Amino acid sequence: MNEAPLEKELALTDKFTQKLHDLSYEATNQCVQCGYCLPACPTYESMGKESQSPRGRINLVKMAAEGKIDLQKDLAEPIDLCLGCRACEVACPVNVPYGQIYEAAKEVITENQKHEHHKKQNSKPKIQTKAVKFTLTNLFPHRKRLRTLGNLTWLYQKTNLNKVVQKNKND
Ligand code: SF4
Ligand code: SF4
Repeated sequence: MNEAPLEKELALTDKFTQKLHDLSYEATNQCVQCGYCLPACPTYESMGKESQSPRGRINLVKMAAEGKIDLQKDLAEPIDLCLGCRACEVACPVNVPYGQIYEAAKEVITENQKHEHHKKQNSKPKIQTKAVKFTLTNLFPHRKRLRTLGNLTWLYQKTNLNKVVQKNKND
């Protein structure tokens, strides 16, 4: 049976996944999962979790580069907690370039965080702009509507309805 091309097997969801794939995928495939690096890793020694070991991190980077896990939800914390000491690289019998994998993951995660932050920042003014636009197009050209709105506001204040509403909110 013919193997599907690698590209077809990958769910490269976005440019960050693609970049991580370009920078680290080949290196992650060099890991033979032997675990010789585990005793050399201070975070694995102190936390005892596979996800905080070099082998675990390499696996996570590989899965993220395949689009199988989320960069922020699943990969950011293990990479953030890595000390970058590269003691694992020295202990590795097949010379997996852990430093390269780690730096690639850090770079892509940081870029992705900045991108998400900008997206959030840009979405706020859009809502405000829409509200202003709505007011300008629907109220200002129509004196009658503006007058009605003004009368309603006046009535709301004069009848002490605002105080009743406020009291109900506080109760
Ligand atoms: S760089 Fe240091 S802390 Fe990070 S995985 Fe390797 S040995 Fe562990
Ligand atoms: S990084 Fe090296 S030592 Fe660690 S599991 Fe992979 S092949 Fe083994």
